[in-house]
Amino acid sequence: METGSKQRLHTNNSALYYLMDDLSPQTIYLKDYTPSDYLIDTVSLDVNLHPTATRVRSRLEVRPNPAAARRPSTLVLDGEALKLDEVYLDGRKLSVSGYTRTENDLTIHSVPDGPFELEITTYCNPEANKALSGLYRTRDIFCTQCEAQGFRRITYFLDRPDVLARYTTRLQADKEMAPVLLANGNLIETGQNDHSGTHFAVWEDPHPKPGYLFAMVGGALVRVADTFTTLSGRKVDLHIYVEPGEENRCAWAMESLKRSMKWDEERFGREYDLDMFMIVAVSDFNMGAMENKGLNVFNDKLILARPETATDADYAAIEAVIAHEYFHNWTGNRVTCRDWFQLCLKEGLTVYRDQEFTSDLRSRAVERISDVRMLKTHQFPEDGGPLAHPVRPQSYIEINNFYTATVYEKGAELCRMIETMVGRKSFRAAMDLYFERHDGDAATVEDFIACIAEATQTDLDQFMRWYSQAGTPEIVASLSYNARDKVADLSISQVTPATPGQTKKQPLHIPIKLGLLGPNGDDLPLRLEDESNITNGLIHLRDAEQTFRFTDVSSPPVPSLLRGFSAPVKLTVNLSERDLEFLMANDSDLFNRWQAGQSYALRFLTSATAAFRKGEEPAAASAYASALAATLRDETLEPAYRAEVLKLPSETDVAREIGSNIDPDSIHRAREWLRAEVSRELHSDLVGLYEINAAPGPYSPEAEDAGKRALRNTALSLLAATGDERDVMRVSAHYDTAKNMTDKIASLAVLTHLEGKPSESAFDDFFEQWKDDHLVIDKWFALQAMSSHGAAPERVETLSKHPLFSLKAPNKVRALIGAFANMNPTGFNRADGAGYKLVADAVLEIDTFNPQISARLLGAFKSWRMLEPARQEKAETALKRISLYDNLSRDLFEIVTKTLD
Ligand SMILES: [Zn+2]
Repeated sequence: METGSKQRLHTNNSALYYLMDDLSPQTIYLKDYTPSDYLIDTVSLDVNLHPTATRVRSRLEVRPNPAAARRPSTLVLDGEALKLDEVYLDGRKLSVSGYTRTENDLTIHSVPDGPFELEITTYCNPEANKALSGLYRTRDIFCTQCEAQGFRRITYFLDRPDVLARYTTRLQADKEMAPVLLANGNLIETGQNDHSGTHFAVWEDPHPKPGYLFAMVGGALVRVADTFTTLSGRKVDLHIYVEPGEENRCAWAMESLKRSMKWDEERFGREYDLDMFMIVAVSDFNMGAMENKGLNVFNDKLILARPETATDADYAAIEAVIAHEYFHNWTGNRVTCRDWFQLCLKEGLTVYRDQEFTSDLRSRAVERISDVRMLKTHQFPEDGGPLAHPVRPQSYIEINNFYTATVYEKGAELCRMIETMVGRKSFRAAMDLYFERHDGDAATVEDFIACIAEATQTDLDQFMRWYSQAGTPEIVASLSYNARDKVADLSISQVTPATPGQTKKQPLHIPIKLGLLGPNGDDLPLRLEDESNITNGLIHLRDAEQTFRFTDVSSPPVPSLLRGFSAPVKLTVNLSERDLEFLMANDSDLFNRWQAGQSYALRFLTSATAAFRKGEEPAAASAYASALAATLRDETLEPAYRAEVLKLPSETDVAREIGSNIDPDSIHRAREWLRAEVSRELHSDLVGLYEINAAPGPYSPEAEDAGKRALRNTALSLLAATGDERDVMRVSAHYDTAKNMTDKIASLAVLTHLEGKPSESAFDDFFEQWKDDHLVIDKWFALQAMSSHGAAPERVETLSKHPLFSLKAPNKVRALIGAFANMNPTGFNRADGAGYKLVADAVLEIDTFNPQISARLLGAFKSWRMLEPARQEKAETALKRISLYDNLSRDLFEIVTKTLD
């Protein structure tokens, strides 16, 4: 899944979340895992789709699990929000005394010792399902979301990932209401029932899978078709289903799918395994997309694109998410997870794979910068706050709360570190072994690591701590040079700060890629005193403190450490401002060259923040501007990369750097000040970049043109930072003449921070043009929510009453409330607490129908303890108000409790 359970694994298959006499939700522990008492070999579903009463008849072939420790005589199936009609056991209808139901399960008493057949008929109400888990309706389309535990909202089942079954699904519906009927696998039969106006389709999936990968869809959809021929010459039909009228917005998604299929064959030797691959785009979806076997369901914002409606960033996201879900076919579906604690096994690995895909297709340096930005912005604060948890959590109350940046992004970093250590070729060999050994299995992190250790002859015992230890390791490095002996000593220490529930941390095995730059900027040869080999500039930090002595170092070097961000750590190193300028101009590692610029900017930003807070003026920043100029003028560097260099660290970056007693207003002021300084110092360069990088000809979403637009639009934004009238007019003109959504949005992103006519008229114009397009209008909501106006909370409050806004639509919530809470630090953290109150109100309301979305939204408070005391108090008041509510969902209960703890 692209970023969103609960399970009592230790006694049986039921999910009794609430004890009878204690209403606090139960915690599930990894250490309590036991295999299921029973297995299900085949599932035959007969589904009659109806908006308010969908009938599901499920025939299950059940047998005792030989691996189970005990042989109970009862079978406990998970089920939620279901209306039970009847139950047959081996063809005999059970009387009501034959089973017991609770809110969360169905217990069948006295089942046979050997295999048996169970047939259960239930009803569910898709129309009323606003949690968007299980079977629901979105704009008259029936669709499902079963990860992590939605299948139990369709039928009673052993809803856990280690119960794998083969599914046959027969769907029936009114022909007009749902002319298209889809499920996993291959289509084997269709037909009409003329007398009733209904029709049916039968789908068979030959690959055993857990219930979370089940999907079915029904509705008035149209399809865009293409084919792909696999490496072994098999033809696969590719179908993208969208609402009528959207067919002309699928070309990029289809192209991205074909690129993904080809890349996985070439890079990992993985072929697709069914006759058909289908994607369905729906407008209400809790997550980005879902990798159901052969039938991916996507949030339509990650499928639909035309140059007039989608930005370069949208195009890039579509390409990456299509790839991510497609890659799950092997990492997730063919090899699945034993239990939900192993989520990183499929997610971390698949994120790593989609990052590699983007790196191979686009620019590796730019992709690495954007991945690290994402990690630092979302995962580092998680690791440093009350919600910190290991990449493989030890416990949870609600698994939906663990679709986190830690599991996904840090999980991907662990795969990347392994690849860095063993090399790409060996990593591929290890992956081949993993697929060969575990195809059809529900595997664990240990299974994965064992394959790598075996195939590459690498000792990964200490490395395993990365999976169980939460927190971001802090590395302090210092280099000292001895001219007489021509040696350089690199001393490195590592500390991982305490996190909730983990006070004592052990040293990790940290791969550090480095270079030593000589006076002319070239990398010096690396020789360690103990003559151990350094391949690819990689050293291994294993102890709390270690010194690496480099010999034959002819002149004092400047160290470039953690090249390519070789480990997800916070690095402090004794570099002077001159060293940073030197690295910005010379580092052969493009990631570190960018990092040097960011570190340099952060020094100015933190000292300016402190100055403003004291009522003083900051010192001039011309040294930083001139260092930046050298990179901007370097035509050998691609535009997309130069655009990244030109983007200053975000306000969140500055807050993280300062670490405590944060005043978001001073940070904002400091960043605006530095932007204006750069703008003034580099005015003619920026105007030049703006003019040269206009991409001529028709719009192409490919990386090269997108890079030029990125550089041009970054220059445009910086130019306007002084507030000079001509520069603001340039932004308005850019909006007026823009021929694609990328340029329109770039202008609006500047204008949203400005008060007055140009801003108002551009937003009004945009609304008039796009009010009928539900996706484009989300951008209009989001940009206003991100405004640094003092009145942002009031503006968001007003927009939340707009007729096009709905708290029931996750995309709208993310666009308006989510953008405000996560991307508007001054608005959300406004000193009077209005931002906190607004978000808390929305969270409480959404929690009554969609707990996944309410819990995720509350995550915006994860760094509240870093704030200055007055804001902390206001944030605490908002959080406490939520915690005092009686009927909180399990999801929200867990997040609010941990956030306050
Ligand atoms: Zn995923």
